Amino acid sequence: MASLVIIGAQWGDEGKGKVVDLLAQRARMVVRYQGGNNAGHTLVVEGQKTILHLVPSGILQADTRNVIAQGVVVDPAVLVRELDALAARGLHVGPEQLVISARAAVIMPYHCAIDAGRESRLGAGRIGTTGRGIGPAYEDVAARRAVRVGDLLDRARLDARLDRVLDERNATLTWLGSEPIAREAMVTELLRLGERLRPLVTDAECLVRDAVEADVDVLFEGAQGVLLDVLHGTFPYVTSSHTVSGAVATSVGVPPWRVDHVLGIVKAYTSRVGEGPFPTELTDALGDRLREVGQEFGSTTGRPRRCGWLDLAALRYAHRINGFTGLAVTKLDVLSGLETLKVCVGYRVDGRVVDALPADEGVLARAEPVYAELPGWQGDLSAVESLEALPREARGYLDFIERELGVPVALVGVGPGRRQTLELRDPWTD
Ligand code: GDP
Repeated sequence: MASLVIIGAQWGDEGKGKVVDLLAQRARMVVRYQGGNNAGHTLVVEGQKTILHLVPSGILQADTRNVIAQGVVVDPAVLVRELDALAARGLHVGPEQLVISARAAVIMPYHCAIDAGRESRLGAGRIGTTGRGIGPAYEDVAARRAVRVGDLLDRARLDARLDRVLDERNATLTWLGSEPIAREAMVTELLRLGERLRPLVTDAECLVRDAVEADVDVLFEGAQGVLLDVLHGTFPYVTSSHTVSGAVATSVGVPPWRVDHVLGIVKAYTSRVGEGPFPTELTDALGDRLREVGQEFGSTTGRPRRCGWLDLAALRYAHRINGFTGLAVTKLDVLSGLETLKVCVGYRVDGRVVDALPADEGVLARAEPVYAELPGWQGDLSAVESLEALPREARGYLDFIERELGVPVALVGVGPGRRQTLELRDPWTD
């Protein structure tokens, strides 16, 4: 019995959804603890696709309870839409299947409007947010004026919260040249959504602590990636929450030593969506090829992702922060057919070589990747079912990652399907 956290080890979009889906089969509880509906995973139920942005991936497992904990910012309209979509697929979602923290901050209509207004005002200097109000919602948490999910169940409390925040937010909207939000219509809608969610709203953190203390298998599902962490990432081109493994302790409120295993999800190459530094980016035909073969378009926004070589120096930095106990290397199949593969093992900065991502943004901007070259492999990997059946060079590529990072590879993705995963070790025990 154990707890396991899944962390995107790069800039997000590592293919966490499939890994979580696989590991959720064993988990009795799956917990989202940060981010908002800027994450996304696709569930296929009887051939029909449902894209979920907030509901945790364990929702398809019969005996798994899913938790949206307080580190998450919740857009109630999006959540209700997801619950409707699941109901339309014949999936009943009651409190045994999903609970939502009463303390989670709500993404309000003014957050979305401010997010969009700011990005268009910044023009070329924009952050590249998904425009879903997530950043402004976290701002209100830090400013102690957030509306929380529990407030949607009580008109008087909601009114008191809005008294603290709405005028200022509307002033910002006016300054941005956007329409201010009409209070009464917003309140009516929020109370309606609150009633829909009421059966699921509870002290979710307490339930997670109970589960962890009872040694139930708990899976903590991270969103985005380490290099997008608001503090540790490539600031300011980051998300507004903590994406590192330590965030489980702060966002859910469980002791750090209660997290037994940390699985880092590593795409076999690198991608990044939006703006910001990306030392191994390929802006040539090879980059286009990775994007096309790897289908690197956002599942939430449809935006094309920037693509480049695997960056072990960035991963070394990620590992030191997160303490990976195992790795899941995804999308190895996408690299098939290349003569030679480059892997960044360090950066040359001002005439010397460093082996991990520099923290200083000015230094990072000058960093030139130092590459090792490895032989590529030919042929389709999508039907490969064991490590031994992989081409020798593909095994060499995995060995190289393991050796450089000093972390064992537990899972290897060779295609998008649930079964297209080689299980080399059990991430729950090894
Ligand atoms: P996430 O946000 O980290 O879950 O990543 P995304 O969902 O944005 O990207 C994952 C995409 O890659 C999905 O379309 C998956 O079906 C696909 N995928 C996941 N693992 C593999 C793999 O091993 N090979 C291939 N070809 N596709 C994969």
